[in-house]
Amino acid sequence: MKSPLEAPEKQIAEETSAKPEKPAPAAVIDTSKMAKGQREALELAEAARDPLEDRGSFASNLFVGRYDFDRIYPYPAQSAEDRTAGEDFLCKLESYLREHVDPDEIDRTGEIPPENFKGLAEIGAFGIKVPKKYGGLGLSQCNYGRAAVLLGSWDGNVAALVSAHQSIGVAQPLLLFGTEEQKQKYLPRVAGGEISAFALTERHAGSDPATMSLRAEPTPDGSEFILNGEKLWCTNGVKAGVLVVMARTPSKMVGGKERKQITAFIVDVDTPGLEVTYRCRFMGLRALYNAVVNFTDVRVPRENIISREGAGLKVALTTLNTGRLTLPAACAGLSKRLLEISRKWAGERIQWGVPIGQHAAIAGKIAEMAGSVFAMEAMTFLTSSLLDRKAGDLRIETAMCKMWATEMTWRIADDAMQVRGGRGYETAASLAGRGEPPIAVERFLRDCRVNTIFEGSSEIMRLFIAREALDPHLKVGGAIFNTQLPMSDRAKAVFSSGKFYAGWYPRQWMPNGAGKIDNLHDTLRGHVNYAARTSKRLARGLFHAMARFGPKLDREQLLLSRFVGIATELFAISATCSYAQWLLGQGKPADEILALADYFCRSARMRIDHHFAGTMRNVDKRGYDLVQNLLAGKHTLLRDGIV
Ligand SMILES: Cc1cc2nc3c(=O)[nH]c(=O)nc-3n(C[C@H](O)[C@H](O)[C@H](O)COP(=O)(O)OP(=O)(O)OC[C@H]3O[C@@H](n4cnc5c(N)ncnc54)[C@H](O)[C@@H]3O)c2cc1C
Repeated sequence: MKSPLEAPEKQIAEETSAKPEKPAPAAVIDTSKMAKGQREALELAEAARDPLEDRGSFASNLFVGRYDFDRIYPYPAQSAEDRTAGEDFLCKLESYLREHVDPDEIDRTGEIPPENFKGLAEIGAFGIKVPKKYGGLGLSQCNYGRAAVLLGSWDGNVAALVSAHQSIGVAQPLLLFGTEEQKQKYLPRVAGGEISAFALTERHAGSDPATMSLRAEPTPDGSEFILNGEKLWCTNGVKAGVLVVMARTPSKMVGGKERKQITAFIVDVDTPGLEVTYRCRFMGLRALYNAVVNFTDVRVPRENIISREGAGLKVALTTLNTGRLTLPAACAGLSKRLLEISRKWAGERIQWGVPIGQHAAIAGKIAEMAGSVFAMEAMTFLTSSLLDRKAGDLRIETAMCKMWATEMTWRIADDAMQVRGGRGYETAASLAGRGEPPIAVERFLRDCRVNTIFEGSSEIMRLFIAREALDPHLKVGGAIFNTQLPMSDRAKAVFSSGKFYAGWYPRQWMPNGAGKIDNLHDTLRGHVNYAARTSKRLARGLFHAMARFGPKLDREQLLLSRFVGIATELFAISATCSYAQWLLGQGKPADEILALADYFCRSARMRIDHHFAGTMRNVDKRGYDLVQNLLAGKHTLLRDGIV
């Protein structure tokens, strides 16, 4: 996890005539009053932050009231050429899934048949993004995303296998950080179907990987490292031939202070001392090959370090930044499938004399599904396409896509179950056993639940995005509150940030919309102007919260999560409008496209209203206090009368 705030400082700096002081990242947050473990975790995460100057991010700028619609409009659609490049593989994948992958059987047995591993390898599904010169298909992020849509719509287990293997397994970190020798050695292996996995989590180190304890000690001559410890929940670990393992290497002294080091290693599974000691089983994804992996004196050559010694957390976090875009694509596939199931059932199931889709309560659920599916594709493929174009830093966009899409998909699965009624809760096998179509909504629901937990839980995504949201303000004004800095620095910060805010703050009250936008349908223009105005309201709200809470704002998680929620919905609205206009330009039926986009934007605006209302009036503090008492053992009556 990256800790709270990194900045669009270039944009901020452009807006200010006063050049704000740029404190070193570790000085941005006051860690002096934190507990030792918390401080170490934060400092380690801070040190892993990528201090990019211009992140060129549409979503980040929403937090400072800059609405750069031209960064995402016209919609950066996948080019026809790139689409064609993916067509052959995607056709093969679709027919392979239909003809050879039986999701209910995989769910029932908890195993993916060996012939599926072989078949998927033969069509190239394990090396989709790996360049051709290393034996992969060399396809783009957009085509990879389209593959994830197909996989997600068909089988969560196979989707997880393929995704963990190449979104976070060996391929992705090597593509980002690997040396030529490492790429030549490992990429052909993993692209050819040797399964890979990503081992970060440990029993005591979940969301906070900085606390990991698996150790890698260098040998006296420094040519090798000896790994000892254990990794938990390593997806694909049971089948993997090669792992990316994050381990603690000896600490370094930086500025007189001990700095913990985490290093990423490529580890061959057949190395003596490495053992898969347990296969974990879950509520859903029953055929996930998820392992506890034990390391006893496992010797790994120094040349297997990815990037450099001490850069392991950065390797892991950067890998996840791109890797986590696969999940929203898979979610878009699953959500489309659930919408289709709901659409059919709501049209054919008659109760009280009419199809249930004509009862407003059911129609309302399906409308939400339809709008969300449209927006999910818009956001995910907008971000994928920007990644393909190397259009700046997209960490916030990918985090928003991951958080929003996984949460929406869970809601959609829940609603689809409600629409299907008792049949939604019944297993596919039971439905088939009494002669009904084996529609596995309960399997989809079980399988998709974990999406809000792994690859950065929703709570951690909110913290990460909030960190980015507060960053510009902390960079400009944070030094004022930082008790670690000398008084002279803090006094200087008052002066420089005062000048900055004198220019910036009044601009956040200007009622202007998105400015002149060519060729945007009036219906969409209304929503885009709303998003532009609301980004200013968001920036004001955040600024007021900074003024009120100062450096303690990063402890106000619920308040911050509302700001994050607002920005995410604004991103969704903007992506949806841009996408809708692009579809209109492709000659798609205007009434259908506009109805979908308009419905979604109105619905998102209601959620934004709700978030804003919560920033003004809430029970956060009362709830927090109540829970601290509950944790301390009070409120015993809540435990009475249960087994
Ligand atoms: C099916 C499955 C597959 C997985 N695959 C892999 C894999 O391939 N490789 C790998 O390395 N790991 C993997 N994981 C681990 C996964 O990434 C972790 O479960 C996840 O990081 C959360 O860690 P945790 O479960 O220990 O929860 P914890 O960190 O203990 O958190 C528990 C709850 O507290 C919340 N929380 C924690 N810290 C904060 C905070 N500071 N503020 C607010 N809320 C907080 C969390 O969001 C969560 O809701 C997998 C897990 C599962 C279940």
